[in-house]
Amino acid sequence: MNIILLGPPGAGKGTQARRLVEERGMVQLSTGDMLREARTSGTEMGKQVAAVMDRGDLVTDEIVIGLIREKLQDGAGNGYIFDGFPRTLPQADALGALLEEEGETLDHVIEMRVDDEVLVNRVAGRSTCGNCGEVYNDQTKPIPADGKCTVCGGSDFKRRGDDNADALKTRLLAYYKQTSPLLGYYYAKGQLEGVNGLGEIEDVAGEIKALLG
Ligand code: AMP
Repeated sequence: MNIILLGPPGAGKGTQARRLVEERGMVQLSTGDMLREARTSGTEMGKQVAAVMDRGDLVTDEIVIGLIREKLQDGAGNGYIFDGFPRTLPQADALGALLEEEGETLDHVIEMRVDDEVLVNRVAGRSTCGNCGEVYNDQTKPIPADGKCTVCGGSDFKRRGDDNADALKTRLLAYYKQTSPLLGYYYAKGQLEGVNGLGEIEDVAGEIKALLG
């Protein structure tokens, strides 16, 4: 089973994707994570995309489609979760073609519905464990007082360079201008489903579970 999690920055796509990886052994394909990794390891491509990402704009379709093409060749027994991809109509077309080439289907497209006001707080207060990727939030899920990750015990927490008010504005604009047309695209194909992304993590997970069966 292959699924797309669609929604603006801070909607909770990564958090829910991580749960699905743990609970169902699915493979999370986050183009954002792949691009950040390319930056950390200092590849040419990583250097090329750094400024665009820090600003909050989208990197080229060519680059992200290339990343996904490579990953799909590895195969995923229990299915893929596309997290942060596709983000444009050409990416959506490319994903359809790539899945077809691999003999795979797209089984669920889940929109995580949230309010813009919530996103600002979620994104501005966000940090992740540098070791296991667990997501924390200053207001709703602060890093424990002992400074240790509740999942892995790690103590190296990171804040993303683009989790600031200016970049968030650009990221939201990119979402509404370039990504939100995908809602109509998948609706017209009869594939769009939605969950209330404003609820507690457990409740959102429950709604997703009900859709996936
Ligand atoms: P994310 O972690 O999904 O919020 O992505 C972080 C940043 O990486 C975005 O703001 C974009 O600059 C870039 N990015 C990630 N995925 C894509 C994509 N599918 N298309 C274009 N740019 C992307």
